[in-house]
Amino acid sequence: MIDPNKKIVVRMAPSPTGNLHVGTARTTLFNYLFAKKYGGKFILRIEDTDKERSTKEFEKNILDGLSWLGLTCDEFFRQSERTEVYKNYVQKMLDNGTAYISKEEPQEEGQRSEVVRFKNPNKKIKFDDLIRGEVEFDTTELKDFVIAKSPEEPLYHLAVVVDDHEMGVTHVIRGEDHISNTPRQILIQEAIGANRPIYAHLPLILDADRKKLSKRKHGEAVWVEYYKNQGYLSDALLNFYALLGWNPGTEKEIFSLSELVEAFDIDKVQKGGAIFDEKKLRWINREHLKMLPKEELSSVVTQKILEKFPDVSVPEKIVDLILERIDILSDIDILIADGEIDYVFMEPDLNLEKIIWKNSTKEKTLEHLKHVVKMVGNKDGIMKYAEEVGKGDVLWPLRYALSGREKSPDPFTLMSLLGQDKTEKRIEKAIKLLE
Ligand code: GLU
Repeated sequence: MIDPNKKIVVRMAPSPTGNLHVGTARTTLFNYLFAKKYGGKFILRIEDTDKERSTKEFEKNILDGLSWLGLTCDEFFRQSERTEVYKNYVQKMLDNGTAYISKEEPQEEGQRSEVVRFKNPNKKIKFDDLIRGEVEFDTTELKDFVIAKSPEEPLYHLAVVVDDHEMGVTHVIRGEDHISNTPRQILIQEAIGANRPIYAHLPLILDADRKKLSKRKHGEAVWVEYYKNQGYLSDALLNFYALLGWNPGTEKEIFSLSELVEAFDIDKVQKGGAIFDEKKLRWINREHLKMLPKEELSSVVTQKILEKFPDVSVPEKIVDLILERIDILSDIDILIADGEIDYVFMEPDLNLEKIIWKNSTKEKTLEHLKHVVKMVGNKDGIMKYAEEVGKGDVLWPLRYALSGREKSPDPFTLMSLLGQDKTEKRIEKAIKLLE
């Protein structure tokens, strides 16, 4: 299906009318993978013909986001810099009768009295979509649609077709929401004598309730920067995006970008909506975290601990415990802010009721702790005793005395974190409270 003798040219054509959206990032990735896989060219084209809605801030957000993800392009264009090109095509269409100036009755103040309309030949358009198969449309219902507000101000359909033609685009890979634009664009191609690219319309991205991802419903969670700010790794996001609508047909789920290029196959892209599963994203991020050099991660964790507890010496063990528990880097902040490691650096406040295990009693608990405080450092001894008198009765108060938390690592881990002195001191403190 892919002709090895023909150079592949693809393009991603975001409109800077919003921040970099997850869907845009996914579509960019698929274009990128397709181009790299076949040694083709990947063009990035900012479609800013809509002057009212396009802004430089959005453009910057999109470009920064894509470069953070590592999706670099081979060529870059901005439609607002190509007005002359479109003007020539509008003129050509006016000359060959495929477009005409239409007098309009202005509906509101400031509206134009003239626009350029396409002369619709009213016919059936059929195209083969790489993902959706054969698609057929009757263009009659599109009427003579407007292609430019004036010869200097082309609208979206015209600009896209002219650019794809001039830039030699061979494959148009874009979101399924554009499928209904395709017949209009094919009509314009035919009018200007352009070749028809091969189309591939990617499935929509849906939330867990199978509803389209939208800013209105999902807020900032539709933006790439939302994930970047939480400390997701760019490689993990790419890995996750790749699986939004594509799978390699094997068990493998964790990929680097170069592995994705290797494995990607547009024939394996599904038609049905792709579900955005945040749990899966977290898991993928965790797998990618594990691939980072240990020292790099340790230094991030240590840094964050020192922000809360300046001047302490950070035991390696607590760094490891934190690393075991996180999926994304911001989990570290949450964990620290929630006080989950405070006990390592500060003596915990103890609550009498919480020291005593379930149906145990104050007297028994006191007796156990008095016994255990003499055996600090002797795990086997403590375990043997606990098994004799009741594990929970001994290990719960011990763990609580050391951490002051109902959830924390087991008491032996805590002991090794705190060392003998602090361990003994904390058990003594609990004993005093019970006496
Ligand atoms: N500029 C269009 C958009 O942002 C995409 C055009 C296309 O891919 O053909 O939705």
